[in-house]
Amino acid sequence: MSTRTGLLSIVAVAALAACSNQAPSSTQSTPVPAPTSSVTTTAPSPSSASSEPMTADANGVKGGKVTVATALYPIEWLTKEIGGDHVAITNLVAPGQDAHHIELSPSQVQEVMDADMVIHFNGLAPAFDDAAAKSQGKAVDLRQLIRLELADHDDHDDHDDHDDGDDDHDDHDHDHDLGGVDPHFWLDPDELADLAPKLAEALSEQDPANAAMYRENATRIASTLDARDDEWDRRLDRCTIKPFVTTHAAFGYLADAYDLRQIGIKGLDPDAEPTPERLNAIREEISRAGVTTVFTEPSATTALAESIAQDLNIQVATLDPLESLSPDSPGKDYLEVMQANIDALAKANNC
Ligand SMILES: [Zn+2]
Repeated sequence: MSTRTGLLSIVAVAALAACSNQAPSSTQSTPVPAPTSSVTTTAPSPSSASSEPMTADANGVKGGKVTVATALYPIEWLTKEIGGDHVAITNLVAPGQDAHHIELSPSQVQEVMDADMVIHFNGLAPAFDDAAAKSQGKAVDLRQLIRLELADHDDHDDHDDHDDGDDDHDDHDHDHDLGGVDPHFWLDPDELADLAPKLAEALSEQDPANAAMYRENATRIASTLDARDDEWDRRLDRCTIKPFVTTHAAFGYLADAYDLRQIGIKGLDPDAEPTPERLNAIREEISRAGVTTVFTEPSATTALAESIAQDLNIQVATLDPLESLSPDSPGKDYLEVMQANIDALAKANNC
């Protein structure tokens, strides 16, 4: 990880204190059944009206399940891995949609307000933040639980060329709700691994009867994420080209995790348009650094990436920011899509 001074370390005191207990190795050693990989429930139906069997324990949780609302696919995935059948999760981001611009119908707002837990990243999706603020249940702001990084991740000591390029400084004007913080933490698997026990504690507060199972599942998925992170780190460590070019600048955490450098054409917000000056600077940097590929993303318009690639006679390929999962995603869950991202980077950056 980077050592820049701009890195904010935010510690969730309550959650950390609670999760310092080791996961008990009790007789309850059987993980919950593998959660389904189906995508979201965007229809405004009550999330607790699932046809799955209720749990037998009378723990006071509605319908035997903790109801969770979120608006980020990786949080949906992680919460299912930890909560299994004991959690009914509603994800308000439609398949293929970016997480920045969601709008909620009145019935969806009601669904968020009725959930036991609402997990959001304050500033990422204002419509969802508003609904979280009105929630009767527990609103969990991810900003309080993760290691936040600032929008311009151009912080590595080994970049002797980053002062002469026009890096990421003038393209974040549209991100006022985020206050200069990059929300895309889930693209560093280590961040998700660290989040797992904190989510388990938050679920346990709602459903203490199953706390041991939540902790055990969190430990299991965190160790899976850590193992994949190590594997991806070894793979990308061999890259002979360190910069990579993306349209939507969502991959700063990933770049930091694997010692690469993202050159974002647009800002953190996929709708932000680059200035002609910035486009020229990017073209120059692509040529100078020997970048082979411009990355666009599934379900996004590719005209800008294609025009740059055509001008410079380089390739266009796909990186998935995982803000939602859709039939266009290059995998059917978080780990598969991340693997596809790592494969695409390894190919483009000669690793
Ligand atoms: Zn984004």
